[in-house]
Amino acid sequence: MSTVVPEPAAQRQPRRAVITADALQDLITALRTAGLRPVGPTVRDGAIVLDELGSAADLPHGRGSATAPGAYRLVEREDGAVFGHSAGPQSWKQFLHPARRLLFSADRDPATGDFIPEPEDSEPVHYAFIGVRPCDLAAVKILNRALRRAPDADRGPFIVAVECTEPGATCFCASAGTGPGCADRSGEFDLALVELVGEPAHRFLVTVGSERGDAILDAVPHGPVPDGLVQRARAAVAAAAGRMGRTLPATDLRVLLARSADAERWDDVAARCLTCGNCTMVCPTCFCTSVEDTTDLSGDHAERWESWDSCFDIDYSYIHGGSVRTSAKSRYRQWLTHKFGTWHDQFGTSGCVGCGRCIAWCPVGIDVTEELAALNDGIDRIDRIDRIGGAEQSLEETRGSR
Ligand code: SF4
Ligand code: SF4
Repeated sequence: MSTVVPEPAAQRQPRRAVITADALQDLITALRTAGLRPVGPTVRDGAIVLDELGSAADLPHGRGSATAPGAYRLVEREDGAVFGHSAGPQSWKQFLHPARRLLFSADRDPATGDFIPEPEDSEPVHYAFIGVRPCDLAAVKILNRALRRAPDADRGPFIVAVECTEPGATCFCASAGTGPGCADRSGEFDLALVELVGEPAHRFLVTVGSERGDAILDAVPHGPVPDGLVQRARAAVAAAAGRMGRTLPATDLRVLLARSADAERWDDVAARCLTCGNCTMVCPTCFCTSVEDTTDLSGDHAERWESWDSCFDIDYSYIHGGSVRTSAKSRYRQWLTHKFGTWHDQFGTSGCVGCGRCIAWCPVGIDVTEELAALNDGIDRIDRIDRIGGAEQSLEETRGSR
């Protein structure tokens, strides 16, 4: 009697299909029908930003982006690609962790004079995120962990990831270990697309990552995957890894930063850094906030607001008696050390996903990969000097013992 051995889960192939570019409208319709609010990339104010999508026509058809340290601009694409751009100035953080939100309000009870708090109980919005890059998929996970939010497979945002075939010059997700592919990270996304343009039609390879993704794909016109298409899609994603504009130093960054507290490089970067905080605002994982209480003129109504803050702000480290980090040097060191070093101790991962936003949107073009490389060179130099010093000392000892 033969026994049927079930295929191990790790080896089971995910459901795959092909959809045309026109079916993006059906996808948006299916997500709306499921009660979700679709948000995704669209063009506004000379950039690709994230906003509610009325229809697939709102997506950035034929628009790409060119980035460099301190620079970002839109470019036209002849191939009509919809997701042929790298990260823009915004990230999904703006939906998961809004820049400003009311925590609660309170009104004075005329009878007792006491304030009666009213918790903020606005209806949660159920989003569908369309066009989430693998780096940003990792950022969503990191942000949820930092904010102590348990991922909810049914009620969290529906995620349509788009694997990357068009890295920007400031991207380094390959060396951060977060991209450019994500097909093997099912459970982090509901559907993952690879966009294939110019062969024989503009279409998308779809990988299903969840039961809800399965149900939505059923509501979208789709076809079987032709022979060789998976391999072509994987090759396009793998080629993107080879075209990353930047890379992190191949060393343990946590150790590097722990050893670099007194590095001279901090003075160098502080001379350039404006402490504007742009890098923390655009970063998809920076989560620091401050809380502000306000009252109206009558003094009968009060509100408590939470808003994004930045470790580059001198007041952010204010404690009794003054700020702890008064210099640009100490604030830049705090940010870089937390992001790439102590984040590991706090949350078990790096705080950086390699999206490159902080490089493009830094007004003076400070590049985290360049700063880390310079710190690494400094530590290498110290180690070399120590080795030479150690060798000379043992030579002296050898001579002395003769
Ligand atoms: S530190 Fe820079 S590259 Fe890293 S996740 Fe934040 S914005 Fe992206
Ligand atoms: S590194 Fe750049 S973006 Fe960040 S605070 Fe300094 S000047 Fe502003």
